[in-house]
Amino acid sequence: MKMHNFSAGPAILPATVLEQAADAVRDFDGLGLSILEISHRSPSFTKVLAETESLVRELLDLNDDYGVIFISGGASAEFFLTAMNLLNEDERAGYLDTGTWSTKAIKEAKLFGGVEVLASSKDKNFNYIPKGYPIPQGLKYVHVTSNNTIYGTQIKDWPETDAPLVADMSSDIFSRRLPMEKFGIIYAGAQKNMGPAGVTMVIIRKDLLGTVKRALPSMLDYRVHIEKGSTFNTPPVYPIYVCMLTLRWVKAQGGLEAMEKINEAKAKLLYDEIERNPKFKCTIPDPIDRSLMNVTFVTTEEADTAPFMEAAKAAGVDALKGHRSVGGFRASIYNAMPIESVQVLVDVMKGF
Ligand SMILES: *Cc1c(COP(=O)(O)O)cnc(C)c1O
Repeated sequence: MKMHNFSAGPAILPATVLEQAADAVRDFDGLGLSILEISHRSPSFTKVLAETESLVRELLDLNDDYGVIFISGGASAEFFLTAMNLLNEDERAGYLDTGTWSTKAIKEAKLFGGVEVLASSKDKNFNYIPKGYPIPQGLKYVHVTSNNTIYGTQIKDWPETDAPLVADMSSDIFSRRLPMEKFGIIYAGAQKNMGPAGVTMVIIRKDLLGTVKRALPSMLDYRVHIEKGSTFNTPPVYPIYVCMLTLRWVKAQGGLEAMEKINEAKAKLLYDEIERNPKFKCTIPDPIDRSLMNVTFVTTEEADTAPFMEAAKAAGVDALKGHRSVGGFRASIYNAMPIESVQVLVDVMKGF
């Protein structure tokens, strides 16, 4: 039976990407060698790195003010790297606390400088995006988690501030258009919306670097990775290659404008059924806060939880279980999720 992969991460990739990725393991670029066994400085991989970066630049319409790097350590390493590279001990950064990942970013940033939590939705188990909170002047940056993978909320209106935004976009990168002029740093672990686990993309406005007084170890210094084009040391070669294939696929879909439309249609299909069907309830009350990537919901009757999970499984719906801190269900419908698979889930809900 074909499985419909609703996993929150590592997550679904386009079927054509998986085929090409498998081919490259056997024979890459006509070399008679696997991509797993070639040098990261070989011409074949140098081409891959260049194309991956150029696709990122094209899709997000980045100018030369920004550096683009592919490093390891996951989004979790960026929690401290962003603060370490940007924030002096006597400076302050603002943080929006919208869930587990934001909370972790706040904890790590406090090791390096002043952290001001601008607003938090912790009071309601992070089921909304705070709005209308004041943002003081003079912050070095404002950190946001654009999409809260666990809770199913997403920022639709970016904070109004003169400070550059530093954004964890691990779970909605390349899912919609972005006003790049607002962003100082965007980072994303690849394994939700752009590739397999093992690589993190970081986009950095270069003028923000070199402003901290502390000494930075080379591996933790963004400037080193930018200068060396992500090859200061051995980068995650294969994950980068699969990211390139995924970005080619995104471009072929029509880029971010088209991706955004498709994602809106998929999310609408599912949220409409949750609203219509009295057996289900969305865990995010305000529609404006609902994520287009991770749709969180529960059954109205607790007793229906297990039977619905069974019914979904029987239809080939995989990984629908909600995160332990929320319970219920979470349907992750990232870029690569076809609308046909969302329809399968909706049909199970209709028939339940
Ligand atoms: C998954 C996730 C992370 C953690 O990513 P790692 O690569 O495991 O460190 C951080 N932020 C968000 C928004 C995520 O979805």
